[in-house]
Amino acid sequence: MARGIEAAGLRDAVVELEPRAATSAEMARVHDPTYLAAVERFCEAGGGMVDPDTVASVDSWTAATHAAGAGLEAVEVLSEGRGDAAFLAVRPPGHHASASTARGFCLVNSAAVTAAALRAAGERVVIIDWDAHHGNGTQDLFWNDPGVLYVSAHEFPLFPHTGRLDETGGPDAPGTTCNIPVPAGTTGDVYLAAFDDVVEPLVERFAPDWTVVSAGFDAHRRDPLTGLALSSGDFAALAERVARWTPGRIVAFLEGGYDEQALVESTAVTVAALLSEQRVIGTGHVGGPAETEPPTTGGPGRDVVEATRRIHATIREESEKFDH
Ligand SMILES: [Zn+2]
Repeated sequence: MARGIEAAGLRDAVVELEPRAATSAEMARVHDPTYLAAVERFCEAGGGMVDPDTVASVDSWTAATHAAGAGLEAVEVLSEGRGDAAFLAVRPPGHHASASTARGFCLVNSAAVTAAALRAAGERVVIIDWDAHHGNGTQDLFWNDPGVLYVSAHEFPLFPHTGRLDETGGPDAPGTTCNIPVPAGTTGDVYLAAFDDVVEPLVERFAPDWTVVSAGFDAHRRDPLTGLALSSGDFAALAERVARWTPGRIVAFLEGGYDEQALVESTAVTVAALLSEQRVIGTGHVGGPAETEPPTTGGPGRDVVEATRRIHATIREESEKFDH
């Protein structure tokens, strides 16, 4: 990640933060305290397999609590006007972790801990999850919260096999979950159509105060774990859109991404795109990376975008009927 930022000529524009660990109380806004205590004890005892996909080591607890703390620190720094966007190159990822279950490499749901802290402060939050896998943990945690709009574009079918079109939010929060489950082979043009035709109108109507991004890069065509076909140029285009919504209040977390070169390039162009719409911190020249891959086109998935648009248009019409 640091390499990508350096290569992109962004080093002077990026201020490094020293993350703190999230406290138990801060993590308990989304996680069961007995679950947190059990994971801490498990790691302290040397770790091992939490489930068939999820390994914890003796250091995992420290890493996971600092990943969550990094988000809280970023909110403090951005609230004080000391930056315009935060990109948190943290691991382990978090979006599969739910209230009391570790899953899919995830122990603590860092994006959710950050969103919950913002909710506790009365803020409205949109969470954009472009990791190739559905963020089942994040969806569950805010399922019935009308103050969090959770949007996920992900490959389907694929682990964790949640995130269907008709999962749209709980009884108190209709339409505040938006899933775009695209097939293997989907290219960036379909993601952009989804963002422009479905996601941006939803976000505008929701009027968030903050944007939290679960920025996994495993939808990249070189990633070994998924069949999606995006390029780093596509991630740049997605980040440009996200950067417009809540300027100065954007916190992006690294989630998945398992091809190192794809990760380096995609991180660099995402940070550049987040900054391009913003006041740049520090001094020095900020330019895009020399070689952003061109955007991709021609894959399947347009029908899914259209179906998502229809479902959310229907929910909006229903709610407007009640309003009048
Ligand atoms: Zn993933």
